[in-house]
Amino acid sequence: MTQYVYGFAEGNKDLGELLGGKGANLAEMTNLGLPVPPGFTITTEACRSYLAAGKEPGELRVQLTMALRRLEDDLGRRLGDRHDPLLVSVRSGAMQSMPGMMETVLNVGLNDASVKGLAEASGNERFAWDSYRRLLQMFGKTVLDIDGEVFSDALDAAKTVRGVQTDVELDAEDLKALVVEFKAAILKHSGSEFPQHPREQLDLAVRAVFESWNTDRARIYRRRERIPNDAGTAVNICTMVFGNLGDTSGTGVAFTRDPASGTSGAYGDYLVNAQGEDVVAGIRNTLSLADLEELDPASFQQLMKVMRRLETHYRDLCDIEFTIERSKLWMLQTRVGKRTAGAAFRIATQLVDEDLITLDEALTRVDGAQLAQLMFPQFDVAGAQRTLLGTGMAASPGAAVGAVVFDSEAAIAAAREGRPVILVRKETNPDDLEGMIAASGVLTARGGKTSHAAVVARGMGKTCVCGLAALDVDERAKTARVGDVVLGEGDLISIDGTTGEVFAGDVAVVASPVATYLESGLDAALVGVNEETRDLLHSVDRLLRHADLRRRLGVRANADNGEDADRARHLGAEGIGLCRTEHMFLGDRRELIEQVILARTQNEREAAFERLRPLQRQDFIELLTAMDGLPVTIRLLDPPLHEFLPDRTELTVKVALAAASGAVDPADERLLAAVERLHESNPMLGLRGVRLGLVVPGLFALQIKAIAEAAAQLRSEGANPKVEIMIPLVGSVMELFLIRDEADAILRSVAEQTQVAQAIPIGTMIELPRAALTATRIAEAAEFFSFGTNDLTQTTWGFSRDDVEAAFFATYLDRGVFMVSPFESLDVDGVGRLIQIAVADGRRTRPDLKLGICGEHGGDPESIHFFHRVGLDYVSCSPFRVPIARLEAGRAAVM
Ligand code: ADP
Ligand code: MG
Ligand code: MG
Repeated sequence: MTQYVYGFAEGNKDLGELLGGKGANLAEMTNLGLPVPPGFTITTEACRSYLAAGKEPGELRVQLTMALRRLEDDLGRRLGDRHDPLLVSVRSGAMQSMPGMMETVLNVGLNDASVKGLAEASGNERFAWDSYRRLLQMFGKTVLDIDGEVFSDALDAAKTVRGVQTDVELDAEDLKALVVEFKAAILKHSGSEFPQHPREQLDLAVRAVFESWNTDRARIYRRRERIPNDAGTAVNICTMVFGNLGDTSGTGVAFTRDPASGTSGAYGDYLVNAQGEDVVAGIRNTLSLADLEELDPASFQQLMKVMRRLETHYRDLCDIEFTIERSKLWMLQTRVGKRTAGAAFRIATQLVDEDLITLDEALTRVDGAQLAQLMFPQFDVAGAQRTLLGTGMAASPGAAVGAVVFDSEAAIAAAREGRPVILVRKETNPDDLEGMIAASGVLTARGGKTSHAAVVARGMGKTCVCGLAALDVDERAKTARVGDVVLGEGDLISIDGTTGEVFAGDVAVVASPVATYLESGLDAALVGVNEETRDLLHSVDRLLRHADLRRRLGVRANADNGEDADRARHLGAEGIGLCRTEHMFLGDRRELIEQVILARTQNEREAAFERLRPLQRQDFIELLTAMDGLPVTIRLLDPPLHEFLPDRTELTVKVALAAASGAVDPADERLLAAVERLHESNPMLGLRGVRLGLVVPGLFALQIKAIAEAAAQLRSEGANPKVEIMIPLVGSVMELFLIRDEADAILRSVAEQTQVAQAIPIGTMIELPRAALTATRIAEAAEFFSFGTNDLTQTTWGFSRDDVEAAFFATYLDRGVFMVSPFESLDVDGVGRLIQIAVADGRRTRPDLKLGICGEHGGDPESIHFFHRVGLDYVSCSPFRVPIARLEAGRAAVM
């Protein structure tokens, strides 16, 4: 029989897949002896079964009854009893945390009778009715799908009638009246009475949690976070403890270190006389942990002790939810907490210094995406004109500039047109998710660093300032007021998620300290920075150096000119993995290549080549000088020749018009004939790469000669150029042999002429499936392979990237054909398989075959881990991704 229900004491933190993150960690805390209200977890397996069959698996009902009875017997109370009732929460909790995406219902078990029992047992009538109205509200919204505003509007109206600001000021009689109103609303909107039977409430709530797995917002979130759609959620049934039992009670959220900056020391928000999600929703302004210490020193001390225990146990930053019921502390949740990129680096090295983890482990706690974020520009602090509108909380770092919008729809519309916007809200809720994704930054008036906006923005790496109390947002009128400034939709603002500052207009941005460090070194970056930044820079430096020490993969850059090569070298590139040569035929030189194409005799063609050669030689000298002593792989011309000729349609029109007026330019006619001749239906699969080298006499020879001459000249001047020649788009070893024969002859003649002896390796790109599949043969003629994974992805899938990305990739992602575009992250099963074959077969033929990759995947973290696993020698990526590749290659080596 399948076990669908696990008591908290039966699980542990490693059972996340089965019990969900929340359930697994509740179990872990229970077994650590921490004060967790007793309960049990329904597995994700039960959810999957429910979603597949459309009904609960048969055994679940029985197992749920048994677990509930055990709980009741242990506590000596019955669910929803008319005297001293047991109440429970029904909480969603997937394997990977999806903050606020799914549903939770509190106070299950309350009904018209048990509410009185609760009032009696607690001696607090207001509390009992407050709990009941909360149940009706949550149950109505999440289980019965009634619009939440039905309830929140009624609550607001009640407050207005009583002339009060907050719900704690409503008394028992007000709440009783609200209960009557809520029940009527439920009848009206759902067509049936609120279920009075506690078990029925429980069953319906469990089902609602299962179903919340498939809401639109949950799906959107999963797509963004690359969480599989079929994992399902667990359901936790947890004995209620009450933070709304008066002034000695409350509820809070805390982090063992500051998740925004990474500064050590606990950080948290606390709300007196409140329940559950009041803190996260930013409904009232919260107190700090320091305030809690004053209010209730004993609970505070215990909380600190629990948090230290959790950190030592998980050996990482933990975030927690807790409730204090009449001065008794209860732990309701913990997990290894999300954090900003900067915090991740600082915390990782702090933990090393505290001897909780090793440097190798520290490397696993940060990643390339976080490093990329730290390289983003920031606002220019020294910049002259800045109008500060106010300072809120620095919830998620970064500098964002954009036009104000007040709702998701406007943000999405703007994103579609490529306009940057800042989503401005009183507070966000899960329905704002799409708008948050679309916006460049998020600004809220309410809520702390643990509010929905802050948590979600941090998770996405999106700039966010929250809790700007001075901001008065009128979402209906689409205006926001700060002091005497009124912002309307479309007005530009700039928000700084690192400082919490909000500025009017468009503020200039400058390089981040981490970018300065990477480009100019630690000393330069440390000048004039504050303590926090200094600590961050030291952390980044330490972890990056450790990654360099550990990694087995070399990291090169894709760079086409001396300037890019220079930048790449500063960023740590150990050579160039791909220098494209097509730009060397553009600009002023286009005319020369036109002459090559139009040449009627070999002599005419040679004359044009002879004029190109010194220019190209100079290009190579610059590049090789910038990378002196390091390998530089130069790819011979790859794109189809028509790319160097005028546009076919324009030229046709020009010639036709000229013909009509009887003044045709014969040069234009010849050009048009050439354009027609070279026109291809599928240029991507046409005359390009090695095929050009074989079909256009002298073309590759020109390039090879220019390369050899440049290297010889540098060498005779005492430099150490290490150039490699790479042939693109090879599909057969024969193509390569033909080019090699020609190349060897040229290299010999240049050596004779210059009297400089040098070995210039010749290799090939692997970017056709046939090349990968015949690698055994191809390695006979190639001294190195470089996987051109952009073309290899196109040719393996039969996709033309330019055509498919816009046309149907969104649908493919939506329908789960892939979790991520294969152009972004390597398709390991298909393209990766070809790479593995080529690696193994190539090395069998030539054991010292050098292997690299130069597609965009060379800068993608997941792909880098794959390249490490299959044993490539290096990855090559754009200069800016070099530090990211270094870090990820180091991580791959220790993970
Ligand atoms: P989420 O995943 O959205 O945080 P939770 O299941 O953690 O949802 O619950 C929502 C809120 O209700 C949290 O603040 C949590 O601490 C609180 N809560 C959940 N269960 C209980 C309980 N048994 N007693 C008191 N508060 C609870
Ligand atoms: Mg929670
Ligand atoms: Mg290619």
